[in-house]
Amino acid sequence: MQETEVQLKTQTSKFLSQPFKLLIGGKWVESASGQTFPVFNPATGHTIAHVASGDSEDINRAVKAARSAFDSGPWSKLTVSERGRLIWKLADLLETHLEELAELESLDNGKPISVARVADVPLAVDLLRYMAGWATKIEGNTIPLSVPYTPDTQYFAYTVREPVGVVGQIIPWNFPLLMAAWKLGPALATGCTVVLKPAEQTPLSSLRLGELLCEAGFPDGVVNIVTGYGETAGAPLAAHPDVDKVAFTGSTEVGKLIVKAAAGNLKKVTLELGGKSPNIVFKDADLETAIAGAANSIFFNHGQCCAAGSRLYVEQAIFDQVVEGVAQKAKNIKVGPGLNPDTEMGPLVSDEQLDRVCGYLQSGFSEGAKAAVGGQRIESQGYFVEPTVLVNTKQTMKVVQEEIFGPVVTAMPFQQVDELIPFANDSVYGLAAGIWTNNLSKAHSLASKLRAGTVWINCYNVFDAALPFGGYKQSGWGREMGHDALELYTEVKAVCIQL
Ligand code: ADP
Repeated sequence: MQETEVQLKTQTSKFLSQPFKLLIGGKWVESASGQTFPVFNPATGHTIAHVASGDSEDINRAVKAARSAFDSGPWSKLTVSERGRLIWKLADLLETHLEELAELESLDNGKPISVARVADVPLAVDLLRYMAGWATKIEGNTIPLSVPYTPDTQYFAYTVREPVGVVGQIIPWNFPLLMAAWKLGPALATGCTVVLKPAEQTPLSSLRLGELLCEAGFPDGVVNIVTGYGETAGAPLAAHPDVDKVAFTGSTEVGKLIVKAAAGNLKKVTLELGGKSPNIVFKDADLETAIAGAANSIFFNHGQCCAAGSRLYVEQAIFDQVVEGVAQKAKNIKVGPGLNPDTEMGPLVSDEQLDRVCGYLQSGFSEGAKAAVGGQRIESQGYFVEPTVLVNTKQTMKVVQEEIFGPVVTAMPFQQVDELIPFANDSVYGLAAGIWTNNLSKAHSLASKLRAGTVWINCYNVFDAALPFGGYKQSGWGREMGHDALELYTEVKAVCIQL
């Protein structure tokens, strides 16, 4: 493992030297309690910043600001074109600060800066531009009615899509900036106002985003950012009676808490939750591509992706070859601090996540799984774990059933596609799936039988602002991105007039 210390760029060092506050009503303010919490560099375990610890009082202030911006602020009077242009301007600012944001993301989350530069930040920019374009295209319909009427009575009816209102957005730590963009984009395009609660592990890019939102010229209170812990800041936001919708990305366990918290005022809820996605390789696939794809599907972002291809099913005849190929790829991955330009895999995000992944490895070994490669923590001050392929696994094992959220894939052979399908679908989750084959009818036929919100064929982890993403079963409610996401930020009003 490489341990090179990397010099931060000046603007990042300067940004980190400030006392971090909350963005409420267009002003940076301290938390009501005056409390802060530390943020760690996962590559070293060292503290890199102290951030305001928001709690229910801060959530109340932020919701009030968002409510007033929605009900009576200048935001509500902007034309849709002006709204779109502001979102586009924010995208431009992100692009201008790409290098700085990539550095911040790598420092805070641990991901390789080379990845943050080409994935996290550009995808956030693209999503904002895509949603900026939609701001002027959110339309209703005219509806012909058939109600009984005399020849003298006629109706004219139409629908209007209106913003749902104040939205609480609670995001995770795996793609901090990108998840903020996925959430903010459709909310702002539809005219909602927002209280954003970043994950406590990775609040820094959201705070920089807050500065850029102010610079772009969004009116006060349109986006409020409250950093804090899940129980003390996230929970009161999900439960708040003046919040019209809560949009959450995170664990299925917390997703269920969000649903309960939202029940008080029956606010709308969208959830993007866990996954345990099957990745299926047939012997007629282009094996070189499939092996590289299988490795990328699990090792990208250190497996800390809800869509990670964490269950590899391989046709028996090529099982050994594919396992060996993926194991070889794993061995070649350069693990090190994310800020090192050569690093291909950084540390896990936190010591808690490290314990969780190592706990799953132990559980797998105790149930009889074997590591074809990896299987250990990498000794260091940081939270590094070896990229791992587990074989000798059974469908009932915890490592096959539960989401590990680390660079650990289980590989199992199958004989027949019919016998494979129940195994592939044997999960409480249904977020994504991968299929590798050169047989088109096999690919489409299997795609139709997999209970998953996304099916990738001869590719994996292809995300696009226009492509809806979300889960079947306990992987969530609703969709992110694409046109589908926008609908979930609007209410439909039917207007009927007697002529
Ligand atoms: P993980 O277990 O991977 O850290 P979580 O689902 O716990 O993921 O966290 C995702 C987001 O949900 C974070 O912003 C976190 O602070 C927030 N969160 C955690 N617990 C709660 C809760 N009870 N209510 C609302 N938000 C929460």
